[in-house]
Amino acid sequence: MKYHIPSDQQIIFALQKVAKKFRTVPSQHRLKQLVEKELKTKKKKFGVSTTRLRMLALQSTFVTLEIHSREGDPKKVMTKCPVCGGGLNRVKNLTIWGGEVTIQFRCKHCGYWTGKKKRIPTRYVFHFKKKK
Ligand SMILES: [Zn+2]
Repeated sequence: MKYHIPSDQQIIFALQKVAKKFRTVPSQHRLKQLVEKELKTKKKKFGVSTTRLRMLALQSTFVTLEIHSREGDPKKVMTKCPVCGGGLNRVKNLTIWGGEVTIQFRCKHCGYWTGKKKRIPTRYVFHFKKKK
């Protein structure tokens, strides 16, 4: 069967359905399965990439992302946010000697940050806020 590409609206709608059934989804892969299940109709099957899902989850107010990460190479330069692909801002800190030291990079889009030891995302946990 051919996979159809859902619209952002369809994905968000499916995410809301998932949010009604679950409090937490432990991985992107699992979220993808759940969302695709919600999107599925008798005639159509939908395919969503985990990256696209993550982006939409980041934008929606009812989902919060918990990032699990491992340490990466401190010498490696990170220019793009590994979570959302946005630009990273250098956050500088002054040492007591008055010298400027770069302590970390922060993404202004999704809040990801990393220090000298790079935080490489390995797993995402999705938490859903319950509507009041
Ligand atoms: Zn980001």
